Order: sequence, then structure tokens, then C-alpha cells
Amino acid sequence: MLDLKEPVLELVRLTSTDLPPDVEMSLRAAVEQEEAGSAARSALETILKNVELSRAQSTPICQDTGTPIFYVYHPEGMSTRKLRQLITEAVVEATRKSYLRPNSVNALTDKNTGNNLGDEHFPVIHFEEVEGDILTIELMLKGGGCENVGAQYSLPNNELGAGRDLAGVRKVVLDAVQKAQGQGCAPGILGVSIGGDRGSGYAASKEVLFRKMDEASSDPSLAAMEQRLTQESNQLGIGPMGFGGKTTVLSTKMVGMHRLPASFFVTVSYMCWAYRRRKMIVQGDQVRYE
Ligand code: SF4
Repeated sequence: MLDLKEPVLELVRLTSTDLPPDVEMSLRAAVEQEEAGSAARSALETILKNVELSRAQSTPICQDTGTPIFYVYHPEGMSTRKLRQLITEAVVEATRKSYLRPNSVNALTDKNTGNNLGDEHFPVIHFEEVEGDILTIELMLKGGGCENVGAQYSLPNNELGAGRDLAGVRKVVLDAVQKAQGQGCAPGILGVSIGGDRGSGYAASKEVLFRKMDEASSDPSLAAMEQRLTQESNQLGIGPMGFGGKTTVLSTKMVGMHRLPASFFVTVSYMCWAYRRRKMIVQGDQVRYE
């Protein structure tokens, strides 16, 4: 089998240093929405210059290189133990080459491991067996600042007047955006899950962020709500980095999950403008990246 050590390292390098084209296009479109000479426009222009520089120099797009979250879709018979080893080795090497900053610290002592490893939870790796012979590894680098402004609501929420329906979902998502202000490094991308339990809700609200910018939910009512939430978030006046303006959220991604009748969770994962996610697809000895 193909030696995947270098290809996985390349996946980490690309993710950390080369913002995906659909995200960059969305940021470029946002610049045009902001007034000439405004703080919002200047913040977006600075972001875009930084994106170009990072790509040209293979340096991290942001000093916070985030929590590496891998999703591995592997064919039957592939050893997940060996895949885990491959990924952790790539993370260590990427840290040594400064594609990643050493971010992983002990929960209580703050001691940094120096190589981005830490017990079995850092980096985060999910495995799923799929049919066929294609191995797909997706990576997201989730910044700490934007992770801090994620939120989970249990509906009904009397304080916000949010009931157990889509109208209630809308209220709590807008509340999360309002509370995030500039601290999530706006403009952000919202990953929203409805249902599940608390744990699966958070996982799904991140998984949905692997969708492309222009990929709407396949559920028409959620697709309509995605558009509405993006528009309404942009009317809050928070703007890029909280400087005011028209661009607070670039896109919203929603997913619904079955739940117990007793619970109705709405979970919001806020992704900052450094929306770093990449995919590596391996078939035979061919490797490609998206
Ligand atoms: S939240 Fe995102 S943009 Fe802000 S510092 Fe962290 S990674 Fe960078």
C-alpha cells in the first residue's frame, strides 16, 4: 500500500496554510459589501492579505492553529490503529515544521506537550468504515477563540421566548451570534445542529462545517432557515472582528437529528473566518486534495 506519511503531512500543511478557495471567495465578496474606508472593510482586506501571504510562504493562516479534528472514512480491513499512528505522527511532524503551533496543554497544569499530542483526545480523530476502496481523510482546524463562543441551548428557553420549533431555533442561534460579538473572530460560519443529545449535538454542529460554502441543507425548511439566519446575523451590526459593518456571518449550516421527546437541544458551533478544512482522497496510489 502507498506510504501515506507524506500525504497526511501535506493535508495538515494545506489545511493550516492555504484557506480553501470557496472560503476565500466568500471573504472577497464580503469586502465589496463594506463601505470604502470603514474599519470593517479594512479588517477584511487585512485578513485577505494575510491569507495570500500564508499561502505563498506556507505559514499558518492564524497564530492559533486550533484543535486538529480528523474524520477518517476508511475501507473495510484498514487498521484504525495504524491510521491513528499515521495521523499522530503527521501532527508531530507538522508541529516540528511549524505548520502547526504547539497548542496542546494539560487540562489542569497548562503544561505544553510541545508536539500537539495529549492523551487519546488530542488530536481528535473519528473513524468510520465505508464501502469501496477509497480512503478519505478530512481535517478541520478549529480555533480556540471561536470555540469559546459556541453554545448549546435546551428548548424551551423562557428567557429568550424560544419554543420547541424552528422559530425557537432561530431565536437561540441569533442569541449565540449576538453574545459572540467580535470574540469569535467574525465573520464567522455557523454550524447548527437541532436534536441529538448534548454530546452528539456538539459533534454534529462541527461535522456540518465540512460542507462547502454554497452547499445548502437537503431539507428545504432548514435550507431556508440557513439563509435567513445568515441575513439576520448580518443585520446585527457586529461586523468583521466586531468593528461594526454588514458582514458578521458568511454562511450558516444546519442539520437535524432525531432526539428523545424529553429533550430539544440546539447546538451552535461558531467557526471563525480562518475556516480551515481540507479533504484528502486516496484511491490506489493516487492522492488528491480538495
Ligand atoms: S478564533 Fe480563529 S481567527 Fe481567531 S485567533 Fe482563533 S483561529 Fe485565529
